[in-house]
Amino acid sequence: MSKVVIPVTPAGRGLPIPPHDAAGPPGRPADRLGRGIRDLRISVTDRCNFRCTYCMPKEVFGPDYPYLPHAEILTFEEIVRLARVFHGLGIRKIRLTGGEPLLRRGIEDLVAMLFEALPDVDLTLTTNGSALRQKAVALHSAGLRRITVSLDSLDDATFRAMNDADFPVAKVLDAIDFAASAGLAPVKVNMVVKRGTNDAHVVDMAKHFRGTGHIVRFIEFMDVGATNGWRMDDVVPSAEIVRRIGEFFPCEPTNPNHAGEVAKRWRYLDGQGEFGIISSVTEAFCSSCNRARLSTDGSLFTCLFAERGFDLKRLVRSGAPDEDIARAVAAIWHQREDRYSEIRTAETAKARKVEMSFIGG
Ligand code: SF4
Repeated sequence: MSKVVIPVTPAGRGLPIPPHDAAGPPGRPADRLGRGIRDLRISVTDRCNFRCTYCMPKEVFGPDYPYLPHAEILTFEEIVRLARVFHGLGIRKIRLTGGEPLLRRGIEDLVAMLFEALPDVDLTLTTNGSALRQKAVALHSAGLRRITVSLDSLDDATFRAMNDADFPVAKVLDAIDFAASAGLAPVKVNMVVKRGTNDAHVVDMAKHFRGTGHIVRFIEFMDVGATNGWRMDDVVPSAEIVRRIGEFFPCEPTNPNHAGEVAKRWRYLDGQGEFGIISSVTEAFCSSCNRARLSTDGSLFTCLFAERGFDLKRLVRSGAPDEDIARAVAAIWHQREDRYSEIRTAETAKARKVEMSFIGG
């Protein structure tokens, strides 16, 4: 049994916030590659009830794992305040993530607060679906209009093995249907494809959701964090995924919905809808990356594969005015030059990167 690596949570390992005492509002910051901030991903909990092997392997994230104490996680009021600040800097989309966001008590209240504070923001949430049936109506009433559900296989044995919590696929499929009937349609469905684990189920997944209006996004297995044992051999390149689907259901690429959209869109030629491909490994998309990530404990991460973040919570809790926080974020963004997926190597893959469950995918 190889030595279990307990990842050091970044808490307390924050990067120093660059000087930001220039006068006046910071405007819309662009980073060193000319990329603005459009999407904000907010992790509302570092906990999850699944132990997906590519994200929170059980042998690492066990009962003794040092999860964040409650006092360290951002309150709803702090999340809304930071979201307002980021809105002033240009964000137009907020994705609530985790861990598993539906585990955060009163998540629908946070949705309502964000919807009230920022009604023009495209508000969405990524969930493993385990509590979606219970929460769908409340989330929609609170203002949520879109949702993404992670579903890595339709084969029950494979799905249970991949979530490593013995959770049945039927319950997630039922929750997707229920969420759609509650007004959260079309649902986006994320499938992380790992060679030799679930790649044989790619075409079944495409077939199941074709013509339903729901959109499957096939995601290349990524070297996120430092604990999922990533190997290039386990990656199924997006070109191969498209080829496999295309053999059964002819398709063609179609235009993105907006600049910097993560998924490449493919539409079925017979009009039965579309699917997406997220290919961080074989077709990097860093050049248009306009995504910022806020960890559960209030640190700003400028890349999914970063090792450390910038502690904004300290500023928030020190009583700094919003404009000062905005200038701090702008100063951080101005010096940003992340493009990890363009420079990924077998060596970089081993770096002690922040865990995806801490900053949300
Ligand atoms: S690797 Fe980092 S910079 Fe590149 S697209 Fe992903 S989050 Fe953006």
